[in-house]
Amino acid sequence: MAPTKHSAVLVASTPPKHSEYGSMLTSLKSSILNTKAKLGALRPQGQPKVTKTINNSKAITARERRKQAIERHSKVEAEQQKDSELFKPEIATVPSLASHPHPSLSAHDFEVGGTLGRGKFGRVYLARHLSTNYVCALKILSKSQCINQEEEKLIRRELEIHQNLAHKNILKFLSWFHDEEKIYLVLEYAAGGSLYSKLTKQPKGRFDERTTAQYIAQMAEALRYMHSKNIMHRDIKPENILLGFHNEIKLADFGYSVHSDSGFRSTVCGTLDYLSPEVAVMLLKPGKTREYYSKAIDQWSLGVLTYELLVGKPPFEQKSSKATQKKIANFKGNGLKFPGHVSKGAEDLIQELLNLDAEKRMSLDDVLVHAWIVRHTEKSAQSGIRSFSHMLEQAT
Ligand code: AMP
Repeated sequence: MAPTKHSAVLVASTPPKHSEYGSMLTSLKSSILNTKAKLGALRPQGQPKVTKTINNSKAITARERRKQAIERHSKVEAEQQKDSELFKPEIATVPSLASHPHPSLSAHDFEVGGTLGRGKFGRVYLARHLSTNYVCALKILSKSQCINQEEEKLIRRELEIHQNLAHKNILKFLSWFHDEEKIYLVLEYAAGGSLYSKLTKQPKGRFDERTTAQYIAQMAEALRYMHSKNIMHRDIKPENILLGFHNEIKLADFGYSVHSDSGFRSTVCGTLDYLSPEVAVMLLKPGKTREYYSKAIDQWSLGVLTYELLVGKPPFEQKSSKATQKKIANFKGNGLKFPGHVSKGAEDLIQELLNLDAEKRMSLDDVLVHAWIVRHTEKSAQSGIRSFSHMLEQAT
């Protein structure tokens, strides 16, 4: 059942999209060809070749930050391994799992272009499926790099969970296959890149309120969909959020996601700055606190994200990871400082999401009807008001 489902997504369902994405395909094809001309990297008959990323100061800053983020990740995972005996084992399975590789796809079916980004176990390339012309992203993971069971589990989870998700604000998982050395994930191409790199390119390193509210509303939609399937994301941060062709949110990276029928989990994971206090406390005082958390950890991270998009840095960031951990774990639910440019509406939403009590934390449904979100996302009302004021201007 699974293999036919995969081929239907990648091959059978793609041709009608060409009319819609005609101009996009043309520009992407020329981008691939440019890469070929510049780097000689396109080898349709061979294995994908690693290409160089552009070396400018912004890219370096982003890379550095990414490196730090990965280090923060490792920190949490390392702590988790140390304390692992304290936590109940988790079996991360999704019912009706469709995790078989595609029966006939191989690397030879793709023209592989420039590098889109670099992850923990490999790189992501811009690619074109040769027989359908479908432009996609090819995430290539090296089997030799996922050496231990923990890392293998992350990749398995990403595959298992991601292919069960279908939502406009979640990056599409199209198919996957493997050979002796590598695992290839065929993903929707997110033309806008990562939210993190867009954030760093903003003049003041932050977004305006309207843009932030629109991103947060889409994030709430994506998370609400995941939670409705009893899946927690557990690693919300700008680096894991991509942007589509129309600047729409495409949530990605499901390595830390987990399916839980009970709604509770016990493993400590995620990225430090975005950890909820209930998880940070588990990390800081293992065995001395309750040892479970709920999907409300994603709402907490959404609050951190809202703050970061508006301010340019996450609210609990400190010089060392230990200090950040302590600051989150000791958070008393008040005293969070907001710069003057943050509106009262945004502040209210953030405070509601950063509620210490996970059960009282604002629900995703309530995020979507929060006055600040509604004010910035109601297109028809906005344009109505604008055209009415335009009429008035014309009349006077
Ligand atoms: P990952 O290995 O998933 O963490 O991806 C590393 C980086 O590659 C991301 O931060 C993005 O910049 C880029 N990237 C990953 N997937 C895609 C995609 N589907 N479309 C465009 N860029 C991507």
